[in-house]
Amino acid sequence: MKRVTILGATGSVGTSTLDLIERAPDQFQVVALTANSDVAGLARAALRTNAKLAVVADPACLQQLRNALAGSAIEARAGPEAVCEAAGMGADWTMAAIVGTAGLRPVMAALETGGTVALANKEALVSAGEIMTAAARTAGTTLLPVDSEHNAVFQCLDGTAPERVRRIILTASGGPFRETSLQDMQGISPAQAIAHPNWSMGAKISVDSATLMNKGLELIEAFHLFPVRADQLDVLVHAQSVVHSMVEYVDGSVLAQLGTPDMRTPIAYALAWPDRMETPCERLDLAKIGRLDFEEPDYIRFPALKLAREALAAGGARPAILNAANEVAVAAFLAGAVKFLEIAAIVYDTLARYDPAAPQSLDAVLAIDAEARARAAERVKDCVV
Ligand code: NDP
Repeated sequence: MKRVTILGATGSVGTSTLDLIERAPDQFQVVALTANSDVAGLARAALRTNAKLAVVADPACLQQLRNALAGSAIEARAGPEAVCEAAGMGADWTMAAIVGTAGLRPVMAALETGGTVALANKEALVSAGEIMTAAARTAGTTLLPVDSEHNAVFQCLDGTAPERVRRIILTASGGPFRETSLQDMQGISPAQAIAHPNWSMGAKISVDSATLMNKGLELIEAFHLFPVRADQLDVLVHAQSVVHSMVEYVDGSVLAQLGTPDMRTPIAYALAWPDRMETPCERLDLAKIGRLDFEEPDYIRFPALKLAREALAAGGARPAILNAANEVAVAAFLAGAVKFLEIAAIVYDTLARYDPAAPQSLDAVLAIDAEARARAAERVKDCVV
């Protein structure tokens, strides 16, 4: 029995993880499940899986959670500290699927505890990559990538020496506005932006996919996960989302991982690694798909990708500022306070006006994150919708 904890159990990745775990009850035992405020979803999942502990990050939800779990032996707790404690309970396998910077401390707690951490919360590596990976090395924690692109790269790294890798190519669907003119992009609504053509995901990552910031965050994530330089990381737009990423070797071989766009495949790979497990995912039918298309990304219509590339090249505090400003800008866009094209502009201006020294600890990263958020929030006020 693998003892499993899911951070962000009520989200898109969290529920896909639960789906796999519940299909193999003889293989997995749930230690802890966490959410922010979705008490009903969390309680349902905890009762179904007979979890030991259920935690809501929002302290105001504690009584509601206690009521929902009344009569069961499941412990109910609340608050950000309780989420970190759940992360550090020593499960064999932890899914890190909280969205955004809110996941940083819980991810760190899991990495410091050992076992295996399956990482979906890309923002943790974007903002604090060196600090997180160093913590994993020190504790002997196995860090497995869940993001479909990084999971694909991980599968394509065949054990050849790292210096024989020429390039890592992250594929991007291009999002819902791949063919939309810059002029038409002015009026994009939140509903249009979260309607991803291939993947069903949470709101924040869906908007990131629409601006291509998601691919930018993934470049930074890849830099921290794999032994390559920033200039060995490329992005290729591939609208069908069948090839999830590729590794090119010095001999000219290019290895790719393919599959239908269903997060349960990379999650299952991380759950069963180094073995593999059955999933209910639709099987890939290449004859039916017929053709696979690829094109260069358009850095003019999708400036967020360029900003992320520049932040990666500059290093230091730049990726954390990029990420913080993006979270603020995306939240403002979803709330109807800024236009779609202003998301990248807010990130650009925040980066231009704030340039602190490289953070050396998680506390320093979080202080930079807080300051960048405050500055981005000020910039949001300049926007008139
Ligand atoms: P969702 O928005 O669907 O879910 C987010 C989860 O985090 C929910 O369980 C939510 O709880 C919880 N949460 C939100 N805020 C807080 C907080 N302040 N403290 C504690 N928990 C919180 O996101 P996704 O599942 O789409 O994405 C999760 C992460 O995985 C993101 O970093 C994303 O970039 C990454 N990812 C997602 C993919 C996908 O297919 N969805 C693919 C690859 C990576 P509640 O429900 O109560 O709000």
